[in-house]
Amino acid sequence: MAQPIQVFVPKGVRSSMISTERQCTRKFFWVYRLRLKPKSYVLSQALKAGDIYHHIMMPLYRDDCSLEDAEKIAYDSVVAPSIEEFETAAEGDLTGDAQQSATNVQRAWEVARVMARLFWDQYPLDRDRYEVVDTEVPITAPMLGAPAFSLGVQGTPDIIIRDLKENALWLPDHKTTGHKPTDAIVGRGYAWQTYMYSELVHHKYGEWPLGFIYNFVQRPTIRYCPTTKDKGGFESYVERCRFEYVKKGQDVCTSYALQLTQGPSPESFRERVLILATLSLMPVDPTDYNLDTMFPRIYQGFNGCAKCPYRFLCESDVAMWPSLIEQKYRVRED
Ligand code: SF4
Repeated sequence: MAQPIQVFVPKGVRSSMISTERQCTRKFFWVYRLRLKPKSYVLSQALKAGDIYHHIMMPLYRDDCSLEDAEKIAYDSVVAPSIEEFETAAEGDLTGDAQQSATNVQRAWEVARVMARLFWDQYPLDRDRYEVVDTEVPITAPMLGAPAFSLGVQGTPDIIIRDLKENALWLPDHKTTGHKPTDAIVGRGYAWQTYMYSELVHHKYGEWPLGFIYNFVQRPTIRYCPTTKDKGGFESYVERCRFEYVKKGQDVCTSYALQLTQGPSPESFRERVLILATLSLMPVDPTDYNLDTMFPRIYQGFNGCAKCPYRFLCESDVAMWPSLIEQKYRVRED
């Protein structure tokens, strides 16, 4: 007998909630009200490379350590446990998703190391000019102007630094991309995360940040071949990647300072947060499932939703949901 469906209330509004709800309100329901996560999936190599890259950059800022030490910290904390988890899961995996995911983690690790080396070569932190104030600090803040019953905003800025010359706070944000780094910057000024993190930093430190430093690095597409092209080891692979970018006339990475209007976020952002807070707090009866009015689907058959991991639920009658959830999803701890 499948367990009854549990509905949760998120602790605060996060910028990822805003982007999910903008994609599809029903997806917001699956991810944030039911906290569902697919049990079996093929891990995206690109996303994992971004995650590992982030875990290499963090100790470089936080601990002022060498690149080699930062790589070791990232390997021990995210790469090794991830490979082990997927290799264990692969034993009973008929689809091969877990084995493919383990391979993707290994490849993502190589890609992330290259990106970290090429970026840090070009843009090491100037510690005479910048002081690291905090890294990965979770912040919750009330939303100014929101009704008292409402949820606040929540987030964890990766890095907060102080420009000692200007006496101003900046938020460096490291992003990996498949596109040219200069193209990837477009539209950043309007990202929800920009407003959200400004509010959070203002709440915790009592001053508005001067802006974001967007550090974009492009993922290399050539592979590490230790038995053929990279007999000289990993360094030779790094140099081969560097050469590929030069050959294509592309920048490997870019660092772009986006200065913000210091002060409260625009009305449009506040409205979005209020909508999300309402969707998060709204009572939902899991035996009724009359969700189409509150959490409408954008379901568009094979084309629109083909890659969405929640399509099995959207394609099924509500009576099937408890057993489908038990088979295909797990509930996140949060
Ligand atoms: S399958 Fe489509 S409608 Fe359902 S949650 Fe995913 S994107 Fe939304």
